[in-house]
Amino acid sequence: MSFDLSTLPPGRVREVVRAPAHVLATAGPEVDPTDPEVVQLCADLVATMRVSPGCVGLAAPQVGVSAQAFCVDVTGHPKTRAGHGLVVLVNARVVESSRNERAREGCMSVPDLTGDVKRATRVTVRGHLPGTGEETEVVTDAFEARALQHEIDHCAGLLFLDRVAGAHALHARQVYLDAPAP
Ligand SMILES: [Zn+2]
Repeated sequence: MSFDLSTLPPGRVREVVRAPAHVLATAGPEVDPTDPEVVQLCADLVATMRVSPGCVGLAAPQVGVSAQAFCVDVTGHPKTRAGHGLVVLVNARVVESSRNERAREGCMSVPDLTGDVKRATRVTVRGHLPGTGEETEVVTDAFEARALQHEIDHCAGLLFLDRVAGAHALHARQVYLDAPAP
C-alpha cells in the first residue's frame, strides 16, 4: 500500500549533499515520527526525490540532516517486482532478510560511481509512518528490497561504497540518467 502523500505538508526541494560530507558517514538518531520537524523533513525528502531524475530513494543524511528517515519509490523501474509505490519510513529496521544477490547500485550522493553490492533480495522492514507515528511493515523483494536496504544504510551512516567488496567492484558511471540512484 502506497504512502498517502496528502498526510504530509507541502515539501521543499533541498540540496543533496555529496560524499565525503561528514553527515553521510554519521549514524542518524531515532527521531519522533510525530514531531512536525520530522514530518516536514519527510515531505522535503519526497519533494527532492521527485525532482531528481532517476532517483528512487532519498534519506535524511543526504539532505544534511542526521536522522533515521527516508523515502523510496521504485514505481516503473525495470528491475522492480514487488512495488509499494511511495514508501516513507521513520526509524526503519530490517527485521527479516534472505537470499543474497550482488547487483549494481548508484547513489545521488556518490554521483560519479556505481558499485556491485551484495544485498538480501527478500526483506521485511518495520518502521513508523511520519505524522501518525503508526508502526508499519513492508514485505518486499528484488529492486524495492535493495532500495530500502540502501536507504536504511544511509540512516546508519553507511554508503554503498562501504559495502562493495573492493575497488574492482566500483565502476565509473557512464550514463548518469539511466542508472538508478537511490
Ligand atoms: Zn544513496
